[in-house]
Amino acid sequence: MNNRFLHAHSVYTGLESFSRPFETPVEAGVYHTSRPFEEKVTFKDAKSAGATAQWLGGWPVPGLSIPIVLSDSVGRNGKNIASDVDAVQKRLEALGYGVINFDKNMDKLEQMIRFFQAVSGGFRNLNESNDDGRVDKDGNTLKWLNASNAPLWIPLDDGDKDASAGLGYYNFEKSDPSDGDFYYGTNWLVDIIKCAGKKYNDDYLAANPAKPVIWVNDLSLKDGTKKDHTEHQTGLGVDIRLPKNDGSSGGITYNSTDYDRDTARAMIKAFRSCEGTKGIGIKHVFFNDDVLIKEGICSYAKGHNDHIHVGIKSPSLVL
Ligand SMILES: [Zn+2]
Repeated sequence: MNNRFLHAHSVYTGLESFSRPFETPVEAGVYHTSRPFEEKVTFKDAKSAGATAQWLGGWPVPGLSIPIVLSDSVGRNGKNIASDVDAVQKRLEALGYGVINFDKNMDKLEQMIRFFQAVSGGFRNLNESNDDGRVDKDGNTLKWLNASNAPLWIPLDDGDKDASAGLGYYNFEKSDPSDGDFYYGTNWLVDIIKCAGKKYNDDYLAANPAKPVIWVNDLSLKDGTKKDHTEHQTGLGVDIRLPKNDGSSGGITYNSTDYDRDTARAMIKAFRSCEGTKGIGIKHVFFNDDVLIKEGICSYAKGHNDHIHVGIKSPSLVL
């Protein structure tokens, strides 16, 4: 038996319910992605539905306990033997990439492969030279598809803007439908946001209950389409609204009189303290407050006077 199945339940983090891509079992061990993408699935439901479900970073991924073995290459200019194509497609769907559709003129499977390559490679955007759209028999993309820490493509949950909830973060993006589904990302990013929220709550909000929770927005679009700015396509970056002295947030710059530096500092430090969670790194924090830059916790980047940007580093592959 594959050893990743054996530790499957030990990595479950205790979430009561969550939204994620989930598959309907049509027979033992075989799953189809026929349910609506954001169906609520409880731990109990998922357990009973997927006897072979792999618990990956707190998320159930049916089928992952069986590594894919390819007889030849799949995708752009690949041999594309039917059974190989089927295996790769099902795995990508199980990981959440069935929603990817950033180029309507490109073959769907090729889009999913390219996107997965960009994500697992830690690239900020799709780049022709980095993602060739093909899964080779012994290549790195196949290793990532079989990795126990393969990146899932998932929505960030709501969080809570009420500090008393104890989560420490609020998914502001979800309250703004005009911006589309701009709250998708890797489970790596979601894990870091949740970790930072908890740290911020415990280390700062508990003693300063009138301060705002971390209001996050601008992750990546559900289907992987590129939006207005870079670093927000492959689910490895998130923006934070600036906290204000009156306990609200957003709509200001670091030069505004009502900007709350102490709270901004606590937010950035919370993210930085999560460096290393499940091997995930903090690649950079962009924010132009020169006081905080001098303190060494963020760096200057054009366009970052009115928000903080956190970019993460992908972890090393774990088979
Ligand atoms: Zn950003």
